[in-house]
Amino acid sequence: MKNKQRSWLLLGAFQLLFAVFLPAQTKQKADLIVTGGMLVTMDSPRSIYDDGAVAVTGDTIVAVGPRAEIEARYTASQAIDAKNKLVLPGFINGHTHVPMTLFRGIHDDVTLNDWLYKYIFPAEAKNVTEEFVRWGTRLAAAEQIRSGVTTFADMYYFEDAVAEETKAAGMRGVLGETFIDFPAPDNKTNAAMLAYTEKFLQKWQGDPLIHAAPAPHSIYTCSQKTLQDAATLARKYHAPILIHVAEMKKELDDSLKQNGMSPVQYLEKIGVLGPDVVAAHCIFVDEADRKTLAQRQVGCVHNPSSNMMIASGVAPVPEMRAAGIAIGLGTDGPAGSNNDLDLMEEIDLAAKLAKITRMDPLAINAKAVVEMATIDGAKALHMDKEIGSLEKGKKADLILISLDEPNAVPMYDVYAQLAYALKASDVETVIIGGRIVMRDRKLLTVNEQEAIAKAREYKKKIAASLGMQ
Ligand SMILES: [Zn+2]
Repeated sequence: MKNKQRSWLLLGAFQLLFAVFLPAQTKQKADLIVTGGMLVTMDSPRSIYDDGAVAVTGDTIVAVGPRAEIEARYTASQAIDAKNKLVLPGFINGHTHVPMTLFRGIHDDVTLNDWLYKYIFPAEAKNVTEEFVRWGTRLAAAEQIRSGVTTFADMYYFEDAVAEETKAAGMRGVLGETFIDFPAPDNKTNAAMLAYTEKFLQKWQGDPLIHAAPAPHSIYTCSQKTLQDAATLARKYHAPILIHVAEMKKELDDSLKQNGMSPVQYLEKIGVLGPDVVAAHCIFVDEADRKTLAQRQVGCVHNPSSNMMIASGVAPVPEMRAAGIAIGLGTDGPAGSNNDLDLMEEIDLAAKLAKITRMDPLAINAKAVVEMATIDGAKALHMDKEIGSLEKGKKADLILISLDEPNAVPMYDVYAQLAYALKASDVETVIIGGRIVMRDRKLLTVNEQEAIAKAREYKKKIAASLGMQ
C-alpha cells in the first residue's frame, strides 16, 4: 500500500472514531433526564420550551433547554418521557397545618369562634399526640404530592415529628413549631416551648429538605414577649418565622384598640418584621401596611379557599403585588377552613376571587396566579435561590402534568390551562430533589393505603372523644 493511500485510510478510520464514539464520550453524565415535554420554567424571562428537557444530577438541576440541545450534551442513567405533558417547577403550599388532616370535616358551616372553641381546641386537647401528628403528616404528604406540591410551609405542634415524616416522604418543608400563650398539646409552658424549638432548630440545621422554624401563632394568641422570643430564636439560627397576620377583622379591631395601630405596624414596632418572616393571610393590610411589608421584605401567603370558607375577608392581592410584596398561595386548613390540600384549586380560586371581589375580570390573570404557586411562592418563603423555577443550579423539584385528558385539550394558552382547566388529578409524576416520589400516579415514598386506614381509625377515636356519633 502506498503511503498516501495508507494515510487516507488512517484519516478515514479516525473520522469514523470521532463520529461514532467521541460524541458519546464527551457527553456529560446526569442521573436523570426528563425529556420531550412542554417546559414551563418560571425563570425570569418566563421561558417556555415546547419540546424541552431537564437534566438532573443528585438533587440539583444541571441543565434546562430545548430537548435536542440537552440530549446532545447529556446522557443519563434514567430518563422520563414527558411527551404530551407539561413540566413545571413543583407547586409551593405556603401555609397549612398538615396534621389537621385527621380533623378534616370534623364540623363545618359554623363561625370560626364556634369551630375553634367548641370543636377544635377540645379535639386537640384530647387527641393530639406525637403519633397523631405522624399519621396526619403522612396522609397530608400523600395528598399534597398527588396535587403536585413539592414544598409546603407548616405550623403545628410536635413539629419535629412533622419534620421526620416529611423527610421520609421525600418532601421539602418549612416547618414551624407553634408558639402560643396557652398550654399546647406538646409544650405546657413557654420555657418548654423555647427549649423544644431550640433543639428542633439545632437538629435540622443544614438539612437539604427540612427548614425548621419557630411559628408564633399570631398577635392575638401571643404576648409581645412570646413574639419577640420566637423572632430572637429564629434569628440566632437564621431560620424563617411563620406567623398568621391580619387574618380577621377582630384581630385588626383589637389591635387598633389595644396597640393603637394595625397588626402589621405593631409587629414592625416590636421588631418582628424582616426578610425572614412568612406572614399568612394579610387580609387587613392598608396602603401603609403594604409599604411596610414591602420595605421589610416580608413574604405573604394568600389562602383563598380558607378566606372564603371562614368568610374572613379578601386579601388585596393585586395591590400587594403592585407594592412589590412577594405573595404565594396556601391551602391553610385542611380542617375547618378548606378542607383539602389541593394547591391547584387555590390557583384557580385566587384568580376568580380577585375577579369577583372587584367585579373585574382583569383584576388578576392566569399567569400571575401560576407565578404565585411557583416562583412567587418561593420568594414568599425566602427560598427563591433554591426552588420555584426550572433553572440550572436550583433543586430538582419538578412535576409532570398530563395533557392527554379531555379537560386538557385543546390548549391555546398554557397559563390559562393551568389556572382554569387542569386539575390535581392530572399531575402524573413528581420529583423532589432529584428523587421520584410519584411515578405515573403511583406514590413511591408513602404507604398511602396504610395512611388512609389509619385516618379511618382516628375518626372513630376522635368522634368518641367529643361524644359525636
Ligand atoms: Zn393557618
